[in-house]
Amino acid sequence: RAHLTSPGGYRFYVEEMNTRALRVLAYENRLRKAINSEEFVPFFQPLVDVKTGQIASMEALARWKHPRLGLIGPGEFVPVAEEAGLIGEICHQILHSTCATAKKWLDEGHKPLPLAVNISWRQFAQPERLLLLMSRVLDETGMPAELIELELTESSVMEEPDSAIRTLNDLREFGVQASIDDFGTGYSSLSYLKRLPISKLKIDRAFINEVNHNERDAAIVEAIIQLARALGLKTVAEGIETQEQFEFLREKGCDLAQGFYFSKPVPAHEMEKMLIKGGFSLP
Ligand code: C2E
Ligand code: MG
Ligand code: MG
Ligand code: MG
Repeated sequence: RAHLTSPGGYRFYVEEMNTRALRVLAYENRLRKAINSEEFVPFFQPLVDVKTGQIASMEALARWKHPRLGLIGPGEFVPVAEEAGLIGEICHQILHSTCATAKKWLDEGHKPLPLAVNISWRQFAQPERLLLLMSRVLDETGMPAELIELELTESSVMEEPDSAIRTLNDLREFGVQASIDDFGTGYSSLSYLKRLPISKLKIDRAFINEVNHNERDAAIVEAIIQLARALGLKTVAEGIETQEQFEFLREKGCDLAQGFYFSKPVPAHEMEKMLIKGGFSLP
């Protein structure tokens, strides 16, 4: 009878295992292998200043370069990695190579631009580990903390807002900034929102999609921009795909735009070409 022995020493009999559990285990093992062979890389997407068209910052978005299957997006592997307790290691790898690349651009004389990095709620729930990881990566790469901006989803911050405020203050003391991702899809308490040490609200793509055709979406987007302004925060519109969407956001006073209309997330060498150009011409 075939059997497997896990690192913990437990014995599983293959016949007793259902295929789903086997699949999950195989995927987890594959993820471990991918970590060891450093198959996780960041892609980059520019955030464009709505008034000038200049690239104002960039976001690093994780990709798994699977040797056989090609590029795999975070929507697929992040949930499995979180379940398997591997998200920390993957994040370390992505954060390290993102910061190393951005530091290289700085050394080559490109204009210093903030770099946004996504942080999973699992990591945000372990603030000591997160701070340790941040300081390690900054040490390893020489990237200035002031240029790092962590993106946290609304739900991961509002889960335990008091602890989130403490963690964000600790990060800020360190020099690291934070912004709220996918804003509008979670449940924000406005009294906490006003106390959060953050610099940006990113309006979720769900509200941008139909913004030119759906009055309610348009009203929500406008309200978020005004709320952010009242709190002294900048706004970013995610998922700008058309000129009409861009023009609506500009008219309403949104600060930054991000989306396929300007550029898809691209590998580092293509991002560097965009940095050399510096920006986009606006309609
Ligand atoms: P997000 O941070 O909200 O990232 C925006 C997502 O929208 C990205 O998907 C991006 O490729 C996509 N996008 C950007 N512009 C457009 C557009 O104009 N149209 C459309 N249809 N999509 C657009 P992606 O790269 O698949 O990432 C999905 C999510 O995975 C991210 O959402 C983020 O929450 C998470 N993620 C990405 N990288 C990391 C990472 O390194 N660590 C962790 N923990 N999560 C990550
Ligand atoms: Mg993000
Ligand atoms: Mg987002
Ligand atoms: Mg999103």
